[in-house]
Amino acid sequence: MNIVVQSEVVIFKLLVFVITQTENAALQSVGIKNSLYEIPGLGNQPVMIKAIPGIENYQSDIFEVYAEPYLQNLYTKAAIAILQAEAENGITGEIMFIQRDPPLGPTLITGNITGLPAGKHGFHIHQSGDLRQGCEKIGGHFNPYLLRHGAPFDPIRHVGDLGNIEAGEDGKVEIRFVDPLISLTGGPRGVVGRSLVVATNEDNLGVDGTADSLLNGQSGKPLACGVIAYIR
Ligand SMILES: [Zn+2]
Repeated sequence: MNIVVQSEVVIFKLLVFVITQTENAALQSVGIKNSLYEIPGLGNQPVMIKAIPGIENYQSDIFEVYAEPYLQNLYTKAAIAILQAEAENGITGEIMFIQRDPPLGPTLITGNITGLPAGKHGFHIHQSGDLRQGCEKIGGHFNPYLLRHGAPFDPIRHVGDLGNIEAGEDGKVEIRFVDPLISLTGGPRGVVGRSLVVATNEDNLGVDGTADSLLNGQSGKPLACGVIAYIR
């Protein structure tokens, strides 16, 4: 109960900050629908407030406020990452990202990778898309909220934490899953222009508590990486 009260205080402060000429009636209409708060009655400038991480049944005291220009162009966003091998390890892959309801909706991640060593590999989005030095200088996991490393459905995780993919004995993996947190818009969780990485080792999802585990799940160096780029 205490958590809910604190959250409402945060919402109210954010509203006052963002909407300087809001009528009292509009403020009173704030309702709670899962993690999404929507305020009608503001003409053509609706404001949405979302508790993050955006995971069902999880309540956070951190909020993102969406107003213009994020509510422009609410059509499906799509992006692609063409993986290039680090060294000559023969890895190739194309991964699509499709977000039907930007900026808040989940993103479908789908595609194929070949040439991988059999077994599990960490699958992450890193801070930078600058591949001038291959996958070496692309920063750590994309982490705009300065949280610890985690699993994709942990309430606390890097935005770039997409868990593991598992290659078969033939080195192939078919990827198809939905991530609740990344976005293809230019908002704080936007991943376009950053790089997608397949790591050498399995990501332990931050469970063992060591420094390396909390940073990258002990997943090791990149095997392949590619810039996430808009396709439309
Ligand atoms: Zn991470």
